[in-house]
Amino acid sequence: MVSVHALAAGSLTLPERFFVQPVNDPDARKSVPSLSFLIQHESETQAARILFDLGIRRDLLAYSPQICKHLATRQPVVSRPDVVESLASGGLHPSDIDIVMLSHVHWDHIGTPSDFLHSLFVVGNGSLDLLSGRTRLQNGSHSHFERDLLPLDRTIQLRDTSHGRPVETSEVLQLQGKEMRLGPWYPFSSLPHTIDFFGDGSLYIVSAPGHLPGHINLLCRTAVDRYIYLAGDAYHDTRLLSGECRIAEWRDAERSELVCCIHADRRQAEETINRIRALQHDETLLGPVEVVAAHDAAWAEAAAAKGRYWPGKL
Ligand SMILES: [Zn+2]
Repeated sequence: MVSVHALAAGSLTLPERFFVQPVNDPDARKSVPSLSFLIQHESETQAARILFDLGIRRDLLAYSPQICKHLATRQPVVSRPDVVESLASGGLHPSDIDIVMLSHVHWDHIGTPSDFLHSLFVVGNGSLDLLSGRTRLQNGSHSHFERDLLPLDRTIQLRDTSHGRPVETSEVLQLQGKEMRLGPWYPFSSLPHTIDFFGDGSLYIVSAPGHLPGHINLLCRTAVDRYIYLAGDAYHDTRLLSGECRIAEWRDAERSELVCCIHADRRQAEETINRIRALQHDETLLGPVEVVAAHDAAWAEAAAAKGRYWPGKL
């Protein structure tokens, strides 16, 4: 098993019409958190600590000029406390974090990686091409990236899963002096590509394509009969998971021929949502799967009341 705690890591404001259809009020906006999570895996000898996402950067002016321009469309944006300050509230320092996994490399999930001088970074396939500029997207002003975001000598990019078959190859990483294999990708329940990270069924990395190349989720087993699924930006409104709303599209303000979507690949994003829904209804699992998206305001509010933020106990 692993323990999972939420970490406050800033908030932003989303215009509803860019995320769901239909909308009653085209001007409706909603302030939402950008959640980070601390995942701890205890073995007989030591604890391994993983962060899933780093939230919003403490110093907003340190984003690239293009991201700063996009930030104007997401105001108000709050950047304090950031993930490092939230860790410190429970006595942890960036040097206590073994691995930082990013669900994807959009600005509101990347925080300040340079705070983590000793951690390994794990990203999904395609993330590095976005950062380098080799892959360019035109699906909206949110799709800008920073070339020097990650320390490449401490970054592992997972293997490609896009051809649909189980992926037999794997990456190797060092965790607390031990060699670990990151892979292969295998199906788990409704999810065609997962990596059993510790090899004991406590934490699965899930390939969750659609939102952005390299988008990954985590399935965490927090008790024998209990799971929590960290869905990143697989959806931004729980009505998409319940099927009450559709994923939105809109026309670019400057180039009206350009149809934009918050997801880089809408069809794959829909498929990923369907798989998450099927996971929730999989009766062969020993217990319920709680699904949490990175920007789920209602979950965050309830979590705060129940002490599910670090260092409170789950
Ligand atoms: Zn996001």
